[in-house]
Amino acid sequence: MNYKKIVSSLVNKQKVNLKNLYSYKKLYLTHHSSRTLERDDVALANKWLKKKKDWFCPDVVKDFETRFARWNESNHALAYMSGREALSAGIYGLDLTKGDEVIIPAYTCIVVPNAFIYKGIKVKYVDIELETFGIDKNSLEQKISSKTKAILLHHLYGNVCRDFEEILKIADKNDLKVIEDCAHATGAIFKGRKVGNFGDVAFYSSEQSKVFNTVQGGMVSTNDQKIYSRLTDHYQKANLPNQEWIKRQLLTLKLFYYRYQSPHRWLLEPIYRHRLESYKLTSTTEEELEQNKPLYYGRKMAAPIAAIGINQLQKVDQFNKMRREKALEWNHWCCKNEYTSPTVIEEAEPVWLRYPVLMESEKKKDSQWAKKELGIKLGVWFKSYLHPSNVNIKGTFPNAKKAVKQCVNFPTL
Ligand SMILES: *Cc1c(COP(=O)(O)O)cnc(C)c1O
Repeated sequence: MNYKKIVSSLVNKQKVNLKNLYSYKKLYLTHHSSRTLERDDVALANKWLKKKKDWFCPDVVKDFETRFARWNESNHALAYMSGREALSAGIYGLDLTKGDEVIIPAYTCIVVPNAFIYKGIKVKYVDIELETFGIDKNSLEQKISSKTKAILLHHLYGNVCRDFEEILKIADKNDLKVIEDCAHATGAIFKGRKVGNFGDVAFYSSEQSKVFNTVQGGMVSTNDQKIYSRLTDHYQKANLPNQEWIKRQLLTLKLFYYRYQSPHRWLLEPIYRHRLESYKLTSTTEEELEQNKPLYYGRKMAAPIAAIGINQLQKVDQFNKMRREKALEWNHWCCKNEYTSPTVIEEAEPVWLRYPVLMESEKKKDSQWAKKELGIKLGVWFKSYLHPSNVNIKGTFPNAKKAVKQCVNFPTL
Protein backbone atom coordinates (compact mmCIF):
# COMPACT_ATOMS: atom_id res chain seq x y z
CA MET A 1 0.00 0.00 0.00
CA ASN A 2 1.18 3.50 -0.72
CA TYR A 3 1.42 5.00 2.76
CA LYS A 4 2.93 8.23 1.56
CA LYS A 5 -0.15 8.92 -0.50
CA ILE A 6 -2.50 8.14 2.38
CA VAL A 7 -0.59 10.35 4.77
CA SER A 8 -0.55 13.24 2.35
CA SER A 9 -4.29 12.98 1.68
CA LEU A 10 -4.92 12.73 5.44
CA VAL A 11 -2.90 15.88 6.01
CA ASN A 12 -4.72 17.69 3.24
CA LYS A 13 -8.08 16.60 4.61
CA GLN A 14 -7.18 17.91 8.06
CA LYS A 15 -6.07 21.22 6.58
CA VAL A 16 -9.54 21.61 5.05
CA ASN A 17 -11.19 20.56 8.32
CA LEU A 18 -9.18 23.07 10.31
CA LYS A 19 -9.96 25.83 7.86
CA ASN A 20 -13.66 25.03 8.09
CA LEU A 21 -13.56 24.93 11.88
CA TYR A 22 -11.75 28.25 11.95
CA SER A 23 -14.38 29.91 9.78
CA TYR A 24 -17.29 28.29 11.69
CA LYS A 25 -18.28 26.27 8.66
CA LYS A 26 -19.79 22.83 8.99
CA LEU A 27 -17.25 20.05 8.76
CA TYR A 28 -19.56 17.94 6.64
CA LEU A 29 -22.19 18.60 4.09
CA THR A 30 -25.39 16.63 4.26
CA HIS A 31 -24.80 14.38 1.32
CA HIS A 32 -27.44 12.78 -0.81
CA SER A 33 -25.78 9.40 -1.01
CA SER A 34 -25.72 6.44 1.29
CA ARG A 35 -27.28 8.17 4.29
CA THR A 36 -29.06 4.98 5.27
CA LEU A 37 -25.87 2.92 5.67
CA GLU A 38 -24.95 2.11 9.25
CA ARG A 39 -22.35 0.09 11.08
CA ASP A 40 -24.48 -3.05 11.05
CA ASP A 41 -24.64 -2.90 7.25
CA VAL A 42 -20.85 -2.71 7.10
CA ALA A 43 -20.60 -5.63 9.54
CA LEU A 44 -22.87 -7.63 7.23
CA ALA A 45 -20.75 -6.74 4.20
CA ASN A 46 -17.64 -7.90 6.08
CA LYS A 47 -19.34 -11.13 7.12
CA TRP A 48 -20.41 -11.91 3.56
CA LEU A 49 -17.02 -11.06 2.09
CA LYS A 50 -15.76 -14.05 4.09
CA LYS A 51 -18.62 -16.39 3.07
CA LYS A 52 -17.96 -16.75 -0.63
CA LYS A 53 -19.32 -20.27 -0.78
CA ASP A 54 -22.83 -19.01 0.10
CA TRP A 55 -22.94 -16.13 -2.37
CA PHE A 56 -25.27 -17.93 -4.74
CA CYS A 57 -27.48 -19.54 -2.12
CA PRO A 58 -31.06 -18.72 -3.14
CA ASP A 59 -32.63 -18.99 0.37
CA VAL A 60 -31.53 -15.55 1.54
CA VAL A 61 -32.85 -13.94 -1.64
CA LYS A 62 -36.17 -15.76 -1.29
CA ASP A 63 -36.34 -14.52 2.29
CA PHE A 64 -35.75 -10.93 1.18
CA GLU A 65 -38.40 -11.18 -1.53
CA THR A 66 -40.96 -12.63 0.88
CA ARG A 67 -40.25 -9.97 3.50
CA PHE A 68 -40.39 -7.17 0.94
CA ALA A 69 -43.69 -8.42 -0.49
CA ARG A 70 -45.16 -8.64 3.00
CA TRP A 71 -43.89 -5.20 4.01
CA ASN A 72 -45.15 -3.70 0.75
CA GLU A 73 -48.44 -5.57 1.01
CA SER A 74 -47.95 -7.00 -2.47
CA ASN A 75 -48.69 -10.56 -3.51
CA HIS A 76 -45.35 -11.16 -5.20
CA ALA A 77 -41.90 -9.60 -5.37
CA LEU A 78 -38.70 -10.68 -7.11
CA ALA A 79 -35.24 -9.20 -6.53
CA TYR A 80 -32.82 -8.06 -9.22
CA MET A 81 -29.44 -6.38 -9.20
CA SER A 82 -30.89 -2.93 -9.95
CA GLY A 83 -34.15 -1.08 -10.38
CA ARG A 84 -33.63 -0.85 -14.13
CA GLU A 85 -33.14 -4.61 -14.36
CA ALA A 86 -36.29 -5.11 -12.27
CA LEU A 87 -38.10 -2.82 -14.72
CA SER A 88 -36.76 -4.88 -17.60
CA ALA A 89 -38.22 -7.98 -15.92
CA GLY A 90 -41.52 -6.14 -15.47
CA ILE A 91 -41.61 -5.36 -19.19
CA TYR A 92 -41.20 -9.06 -19.88
CA GLY A 93 -43.90 -9.79 -17.31
CA LEU A 94 -46.33 -7.59 -19.24
CA ASP A 95 -45.41 -9.30 -22.50
CA LEU A 96 -44.47 -6.03 -24.19
CA THR A 97 -42.50 -6.71 -27.35
CA LYS A 98 -40.80 -5.16 -30.33
CA GLY A 99 -43.01 -2.67 -32.15
CA ASP A 100 -45.18 -1.89 -29.12
CA GLU A 101 -45.33 1.63 -27.80
CA VAL A 102 -45.14 2.78 -24.22
CA ILE A 103 -45.80 6.17 -22.65
CA ILE A 104 -43.38 7.54 -20.07
CA PRO A 105 -42.86 10.92 -18.35
CA ALA A 106 -40.47 13.30 -20.10
CA TYR A 107 -38.68 14.10 -16.86
CA THR A 108 -36.95 10.88 -15.84
CA CYS A 109 -33.72 8.96 -15.57
CA ILE A 110 -32.23 7.66 -18.85
CA VAL A 111 -32.21 4.07 -17.59
CA VAL A 112 -36.02 4.07 -17.73
CA PRO A 113 -36.38 4.61 -21.52
CA ASN A 114 -33.33 2.37 -22.00
CA ALA A 115 -35.12 -0.64 -20.51
CA PHE A 116 -37.74 -0.36 -23.28
CA ILE A 117 -35.41 0.63 -26.09
CA TYR A 118 -33.19 -2.43 -25.48
CA LYS A 119 -36.24 -4.54 -26.36
CA GLY A 120 -37.21 -2.57 -29.45
CA ILE A 121 -40.21 -0.97 -27.74
CA LYS A 122 -40.93 2.59 -28.81
CA VAL A 123 -40.97 5.21 -26.09
CA LYS A 124 -43.35 8.16 -26.27
CA TYR A 125 -42.76 10.99 -23.83
CA VAL A 126 -45.52 12.94 -22.09
CA ASP A 127 -45.02 16.25 -20.35
CA ILE A 128 -45.21 16.47 -16.56
CA GLU A 129 -47.04 18.79 -14.19
CA LEU A 130 -44.99 21.00 -11.89
CA GLU A 131 -46.75 20.26 -8.61
CA THR A 132 -45.45 16.73 -8.08
CA PHE A 133 -43.44 16.26 -11.31
CA GLY A 134 -45.57 13.32 -12.45
CA ILE A 135 -47.22 12.72 -15.85
CA ASP A 136 -49.69 15.50 -16.66
CA LYS A 137 -53.09 13.95 -17.34
CA ASN A 138 -53.92 16.75 -19.78
CA SER A 139 -51.04 15.82 -22.08
CA LEU A 140 -51.59 12.10 -21.79
CA GLU A 141 -54.56 11.10 -23.92
CA GLN A 142 -53.37 12.71 -27.14
CA LYS A 143 -50.23 10.53 -27.02
CA ILE A 144 -52.13 7.24 -26.95
CA SER A 145 -52.15 5.41 -30.29
CA SER A 146 -53.32 2.00 -31.46
CA LYS A 147 -49.81 0.70 -30.78
CA THR A 148 -49.67 1.95 -27.20
CA LYS A 149 -49.63 -0.94 -24.76
CA ALA A 150 -48.59 0.57 -21.45
CA ILE A 151 -48.07 3.71 -19.39
CA LEU A 152 -45.19 4.11 -16.99
CA LEU A 153 -45.85 6.63 -14.24
CA HIS A 154 -43.50 7.67 -11.47
CA HIS A 155 -43.80 8.93 -7.91
CA LEU A 156 -40.88 11.30 -8.04
CA TYR A 157 -38.83 12.45 -5.05
CA GLY A 158 -40.98 10.08 -2.93
CA ASN A 159 -44.17 12.06 -3.49
CA VAL A 160 -47.35 10.46 -4.90
CA CYS A 161 -47.96 11.89 -8.36
CA ARG A 162 -50.76 14.44 -8.66
CA ASP A 163 -52.80 12.78 -11.43
CA PHE A 164 -52.38 9.24 -10.16
CA GLU A 165 -56.03 8.22 -10.10
CA GLU A 166 -56.83 10.00 -13.34
CA ILE A 167 -53.94 8.24 -15.11
CA LEU A 168 -55.14 4.86 -13.81
CA LYS A 169 -58.60 5.65 -15.18
CA ILE A 170 -57.28 6.71 -18.59
CA ALA A 171 -55.20 3.50 -18.74
CA ASP A 172 -58.22 1.42 -17.84
CA LYS A 173 -60.40 3.14 -20.42
CA ASN A 174 -57.81 2.55 -23.15
CA ASP A 175 -56.95 -0.97 -22.04
CA LEU A 176 -53.34 -0.10 -21.23
CA LYS A 177 -51.09 -1.75 -18.67
CA VAL A 178 -49.65 0.45 -15.91
CA ILE A 179 -46.07 0.27 -14.66
CA GLU A 180 -45.38 2.19 -11.44
CA ASP A 181 -41.84 3.53 -11.11
CA CYS A 182 -41.41 3.53 -7.33
CA ALA A 183 -37.62 3.99 -7.47
CA HIS A 184 -37.93 7.12 -5.30
CA ALA A 185 -41.04 6.17 -3.40
CA THR A 186 -40.59 2.82 -1.67
CA GLY A 187 -43.00 3.00 1.27
CA ALA A 188 -45.08 5.99 0.13
CA ILE A 189 -48.78 5.55 0.80
CA PHE A 190 -51.92 6.45 -1.10
CA LYS A 191 -55.37 5.81 0.35
CA GLY A 192 -53.91 3.57 3.02
CA ARG A 193 -51.99 1.38 0.55
CA LYS A 194 -48.34 1.43 -0.44
CA VAL A 195 -47.64 2.73 -3.93
CA GLY A 196 -46.70 -0.02 -6.34
CA ASN A 197 -49.96 -1.85 -5.68
CA PHE A 198 -52.14 0.24 -7.95
CA GLY A 199 -50.82 -0.62 -11.41
CA ASP A 200 -50.04 -3.98 -13.04
CA VAL A 201 -46.36 -4.12 -12.11
CA ALA A 202 -44.10 -1.85 -10.10
CA PHE A 203 -40.39 -1.59 -9.54
CA TYR A 204 -38.31 -0.24 -6.67
CA SER A 205 -34.66 0.66 -6.32
CA SER A 206 -32.16 0.17 -3.52
CA GLU A 207 -29.43 2.08 -5.32
CA GLN A 208 -27.27 4.05 -2.90
CA SER A 209 -29.11 7.35 -3.30
CA LYS A 210 -32.59 5.89 -2.90
CA VAL A 211 -34.94 5.22 0.03
CA PHE A 212 -33.08 2.11 1.15
CA ASN A 213 -29.66 1.03 0.15
CA THR A 214 -27.88 -2.09 -1.08
CA VAL A 215 -25.51 0.08 -3.22
CA GLN A 216 -27.29 -1.32 -6.25
CA GLY A 217 -30.43 -3.39 -6.27
CA GLY A 218 -34.04 -3.52 -7.35
CA MET A 219 -37.33 -5.28 -6.84
CA VAL A 220 -40.27 -5.92 -9.13
CA SER A 221 -43.74 -6.56 -7.69
CA THR A 222 -47.16 -7.56 -8.94
CA ASN A 223 -50.53 -8.60 -7.55
CA ASP A 224 -51.53 -10.36 -10.76
CA GLN A 225 -51.09 -14.13 -10.96
CA LYS A 226 -50.66 -14.25 -14.72
CA ILE A 227 -48.01 -11.54 -14.75
CA TYR A 228 -46.28 -13.26 -11.85
CA SER A 229 -46.06 -16.48 -13.77
CA ARG A 230 -44.32 -14.66 -16.65
CA LEU A 231 -42.05 -12.93 -14.13
CA THR A 232 -40.98 -16.25 -12.60
CA ASP A 233 -40.23 -17.48 -16.10
CA HIS A 234 -37.91 -14.49 -16.59
CA TYR A 235 -36.43 -14.95 -13.13
CA GLN A 236 -35.60 -18.62 -13.63
CA LYS A 237 -33.71 -17.85 -16.81
CA ALA A 238 -31.91 -14.78 -15.43
CA ASN A 239 -28.19 -14.85 -14.71
CA LEU A 240 -26.62 -14.05 -11.37
CA PRO A 241 -23.88 -11.44 -11.05
CA ASN A 242 -20.35 -12.81 -11.09
CA GLN A 243 -18.19 -13.06 -7.95
CA GLU A 244 -16.05 -10.09 -8.90
CA TRP A 245 -19.15 -7.90 -9.13
CA ILE A 246 -20.46 -9.03 -5.75
CA LYS A 247 -17.09 -8.41 -4.13
CA ARG A 248 -16.91 -4.95 -5.64
CA GLN A 249 -20.43 -4.13 -4.53
CA LEU A 250 -19.70 -5.12 -0.91
CA LEU A 251 -16.48 -3.09 -0.95
CA THR A 252 -18.33 -0.13 -2.47
CA LEU A 253 -20.76 -0.30 0.44
CA LYS A 254 -17.85 -0.04 2.87
CA LEU A 255 -16.34 2.83 0.91
CA PHE A 256 -19.62 4.76 0.94
CA TYR A 257 -20.10 4.23 4.64
CA TYR A 258 -16.66 5.52 5.52
CA ARG A 259 -16.88 8.39 3.06
CA TYR A 260 -20.34 9.73 3.78
CA GLN A 261 -21.68 8.36 6.99
CA SER A 262 -19.19 7.18 9.59
CA PRO A 263 -18.84 9.60 12.53
CA HIS A 264 -15.08 9.13 12.13
CA ARG A 265 -15.01 9.99 8.47
CA TRP A 266 -12.87 13.04 9.08
CA LEU A 267 -10.10 10.55 9.78
CA LEU A 268 -11.15 7.39 7.97
CA GLU A 269 -12.36 8.79 4.67
CA PRO A 270 -8.93 9.29 3.04
CA ILE A 271 -7.78 5.86 4.20
CA TYR A 272 -10.80 3.99 2.86
CA ARG A 273 -10.89 6.05 -0.28
CA HIS A 274 -7.31 5.07 -0.98
CA ARG A 275 -7.95 1.39 -0.24
CA LEU A 276 -11.29 0.93 -1.95
CA GLU A 277 -11.81 3.59 -4.62
CA SER A 278 -10.58 1.27 -7.37
CA TYR A 279 -13.38 -1.23 -6.56
CA LYS A 280 -16.14 1.38 -6.70
CA LEU A 281 -19.12 0.56 -8.91
CA THR A 282 -20.68 3.31 -11.01
CA SER A 283 -24.41 3.45 -11.01
CA THR A 284 -24.96 4.63 -14.59
CA THR A 285 -22.15 3.99 -17.04
CA GLU A 286 -21.09 5.97 -20.10
CA GLU A 287 -22.49 3.27 -22.36
CA GLU A 288 -25.89 3.54 -20.70
CA LEU A 289 -25.85 7.30 -21.18
CA GLU A 290 -25.42 6.57 -24.88
CA GLN A 291 -28.31 4.10 -24.67
CA ASN A 292 -26.17 1.03 -25.22
CA LYS A 293 -27.01 -2.08 -23.27
CA PRO A 294 -24.48 -2.86 -20.53
CA LEU A 295 -22.59 -6.13 -20.59
CA TYR A 296 -24.41 -7.27 -17.44
CA TYR A 297 -28.15 -6.73 -17.60
CA GLY A 298 -31.19 -8.61 -16.32
CA ARG A 299 -29.39 -10.24 -13.39
CA LYS A 300 -31.30 -11.53 -10.40
CA MET A 301 -30.04 -10.69 -6.95
CA ALA A 302 -27.25 -12.57 -5.17
CA ALA A 303 -27.38 -13.60 -1.50
CA PRO A 304 -25.03 -11.00 0.09
CA ILE A 305 -26.97 -8.15 -1.51
CA ALA A 306 -30.27 -9.65 -0.32
CA ALA A 307 -28.87 -10.00 3.20
CA ILE A 308 -28.11 -6.29 3.25
CA GLY A 309 -31.54 -5.63 1.73
CA ILE A 310 -33.20 -7.51 4.61
CA ASN A 311 -31.27 -5.42 7.12
CA GLN A 312 -32.14 -2.16 5.36
CA LEU A 313 -35.80 -3.12 5.03
CA GLN A 314 -36.03 -3.43 8.80
CA LYS A 315 -34.94 0.20 9.10
CA VAL A 316 -36.77 1.78 6.20
CA ASP A 317 -39.89 2.85 8.16
CA GLN A 318 -37.70 4.64 10.68
CA PHE A 319 -35.73 6.38 7.92
CA ASN A 320 -38.92 7.39 6.12
CA LYS A 321 -40.27 8.85 9.36
CA MET A 322 -37.11 10.95 9.68
CA ARG A 323 -37.43 12.03 6.07
CA ARG A 324 -41.01 13.17 6.66
CA GLU A 325 -39.92 15.22 9.64
CA LYS A 326 -37.13 16.85 7.67
CA ALA A 327 -39.57 17.59 4.85
CA LEU A 328 -41.64 19.61 7.32
CA GLU A 329 -38.60 21.77 7.98
CA TRP A 330 -38.08 22.29 4.25
CA ASN A 331 -41.74 23.19 3.98
CA HIS A 332 -41.25 25.96 6.57
CA TRP A 333 -38.10 27.03 4.79
CA CYS A 334 -40.05 27.40 1.55
CA CYS A 335 -42.74 29.49 3.25
CA LYS A 336 -40.16 31.75 4.83
CA ASN A 337 -38.27 32.22 1.60
CA GLU A 338 -41.33 32.49 -0.62
CA TYR A 339 -40.85 29.37 -2.70
CA THR A 340 -43.73 27.06 -3.57
CA SER A 341 -43.71 23.75 -1.73
CA PRO A 342 -44.53 20.60 -3.68
CA THR A 343 -48.18 19.54 -3.60
CA VAL A 344 -49.25 16.57 -1.53
CA ILE A 345 -52.48 15.17 -2.94
CA GLU A 346 -55.30 14.13 -0.68
CA GLU A 347 -54.80 10.85 1.17
CA ALA A 348 -51.13 10.64 0.15
CA GLU A 349 -48.24 10.10 2.54
CA PRO A 350 -45.01 10.76 0.64
CA VAL A 351 -41.67 9.38 1.83
CA TRP A 352 -39.70 12.41 0.62
CA LEU A 353 -36.57 10.79 -0.70
CA ARG A 354 -35.69 14.38 -1.61
CA TYR A 355 -37.59 17.63 -1.21
CA PRO A 356 -38.08 19.25 -4.63
CA VAL A 357 -38.42 23.01 -5.11
CA LEU A 358 -38.58 25.20 -8.22
CA MET A 359 -36.03 27.97 -7.83
CA GLU A 360 -34.25 30.52 -9.99
CA SER A 361 -32.31 28.71 -12.70
CA GLU A 362 -29.01 30.25 -11.52
CA LYS A 363 -29.54 28.43 -8.25
CA LYS A 364 -29.62 25.10 -10.08
CA LYS A 365 -26.67 25.91 -12.30
CA ASP A 366 -24.39 26.86 -9.46
CA SER A 367 -25.14 24.99 -6.27
CA GLN A 368 -22.41 26.66 -4.20
CA TRP A 369 -25.00 28.88 -2.51
CA ALA A 370 -26.60 25.82 -0.87
CA LYS A 371 -23.27 24.69 0.46
CA LYS A 372 -22.58 28.10 1.92
CA GLU A 373 -26.04 29.05 3.16
CA LEU A 374 -27.49 25.70 4.15
CA GLY A 375 -24.50 23.38 4.54
CA ILE A 376 -26.03 20.88 2.16
CA LYS A 377 -25.18 19.30 -1.13
CA LEU A 378 -27.93 20.39 -3.46
CA GLY A 379 -29.59 17.70 -5.58
CA VAL A 380 -30.09 18.36 -9.27
CA TRP A 381 -32.09 15.38 -10.61
CA PHE A 382 -32.78 15.63 -13.57
CA LYS A 383 -30.55 17.67 -15.80
CA SER A 384 -32.05 16.67 -19.12
CA TYR A 385 -35.52 15.90 -20.41
CA LEU A 386 -34.07 14.35 -23.55
CA HIS A 387 -32.61 10.86 -23.52
CA PRO A 388 -29.84 10.76 -24.49
CA SER A 389 -29.31 14.46 -24.07
CA ASN A 390 -28.41 15.09 -27.71
CA VAL A 391 -31.32 13.22 -29.23
CA ASN A 392 -34.29 15.02 -30.68
CA ILE A 393 -37.66 13.87 -29.45
CA LYS A 394 -40.88 14.97 -31.05
CA GLY A 395 -43.09 17.42 -29.25
CA THR A 396 -42.66 20.22 -26.79
CA PHE A 397 -42.38 19.64 -23.09
CA PRO A 398 -42.57 23.06 -21.45
CA ASN A 399 -42.96 21.76 -17.90
CA ALA A 400 -40.24 19.15 -18.16
CA LYS A 401 -37.99 21.85 -19.63
CA LYS A 402 -38.80 24.16 -16.76
CA ALA A 403 -38.12 21.42 -14.21
CA VAL A 404 -34.78 20.66 -15.85
CA LYS A 405 -33.85 24.32 -15.54
CA GLN A 406 -35.30 25.13 -12.16
CA CYS A 407 -36.10 22.11 -10.03
CA VAL A 408 -33.54 21.46 -7.32
CA ASN A 409 -33.95 19.06 -4.45
CA PHE A 410 -32.94 19.13 -0.81
CA PRO A 411 -31.69 16.17 1.24
CA THR A 412 -34.03 14.75 3.87
CA LEU A 413 -31.60 12.57 5.82
C1 LIG B 1 -32.81 5.50 -9.90
C2 LIG B 1 -33.99 5.51 -10.75
C3 LIG B 1 -34.36 4.38 -11.48
C4 LIG B 1 -33.50 3.16 -11.65
O1 LIG B 1 -33.12 2.52 -10.47
P1 LIG B 1 -31.69 1.78 -10.44
O2 LIG B 1 -31.78 0.91 -9.22
O3 LIG B 1 -30.64 2.84 -10.31
O4 LIG B 1 -31.53 0.99 -11.68
C5 LIG B 1 -35.56 4.43 -12.17
N1 LIG B 1 -36.35 5.51 -12.14
C6 LIG B 1 -36.02 6.62 -11.45
C7 LIG B 1 -36.94 7.78 -11.47
C8 LIG B 1 -34.82 6.67 -10.77
O5 LIG B 1 -34.44 7.79 -10.15
